[in-house]
Order: sequence, then structure tokens, then C-alpha cells
Amino acid sequence: MPCKLCKSQPVWKFTNKRQLCASCFARHFEKKVRSTIRKYNIPIYNIGGSLKARVINNITRDLPKRKGRLQVENLDDISSKILYIIMYDNKDKLKKLLPHNQPLYFLSNKEILLYAKIKKIKGKIEEKGKTGKMKEIDNFIKMIEQKNLDIRHNIITALLNS
Ligand SMILES: [Zn+2]
Repeated sequence: MPCKLCKSQPVWKFTNKRQLCASCFARHFEKKVRSTIRKYNIPIYNIGGSLKARVINNITRDLPKRKGRLQVENLDDISSKILYIIMYDNKDKLKKLLPHNQPLYFLSNKEILLYAKIKKIKGKIEEKGKTGKMKEIDNFIKMIEQKNLDIRHNIITALLNS
């Protein structure tokens, strides 16, 4: 099945089987980041540094700047943290995991890495700080993910609708 939009060779397949080519995927990714920034009034400035930071910069560099504190956390980080808090921590901390300063809130590691590859942004996603129970939870979600590709979206949707 070719790209749904332009009939070129696909590089990405959604869980509903819809497929996108490299340039349509990049456009889709950028739209998603910009709409997250707009919807949640997320700060805009050059944060530099890591791969995820450079991905954000690449998309926001032409937007008017807005002060605040940005976070590079994405879907994978946030979904694991939500589950961690539900299982081991004070539930009041869940509020901090609602979208407010994370432009990559709705994007997975896989999507970020593919976007970076298309845009020739070099580097990798660091998994630092994941130890003990946090690492266990991440592995648990990865196991579920093999059969339920939407598990991380399901987790954040549960928080957004709670
Ligand atoms: Zn296309």
C-alpha cells in the first residue's frame, strides 16, 4: 500500500494500517508538534542539546518565542511515568504529567527517531535515569506493546480523560 496522501513509497505505518511516505510523515509529525504547542500554550525557544531538543528546535525555530520552561519528555517517558506513579507513588503527582510544557507529548520514540532520520538530525534518544522500578515498568509496557501498539496512547488518554 503506497502513501495515503501522495502515493509514494511508505516509511511509516499507523496502527490503523494507514501509511505515509517520508515527506508526508515529516509534515504530519511537525503538524502534531505545532498543534500540541498551540493547544497547551507550550513555551517556544531554542533549547539545544539532545536529539529530542534539536527535533523540537527544527520545528519551532520560525515560530514567535514564548518564555517558560520546556521539557523534552515524550510519549514513551510520560506513559511509563504515569504507570509508575499509579503503582508506586502519590497520585497527586499525576497532574504534573498532563501536557503543559512537552512539545513531544504525543510522539513516540519511534516517530521521533524516524523524523530525525528524515531531517538528518543526528544522535540518539538517551534512556538515562531509568533504573529499578522505572526500568521494570518500561519493560512491562514494551512487552504489552508487542501485541497492543497503542498501549502508550491508551495510558495518556486515560490520564487526559480522568
Ligand atoms: Zn506521501
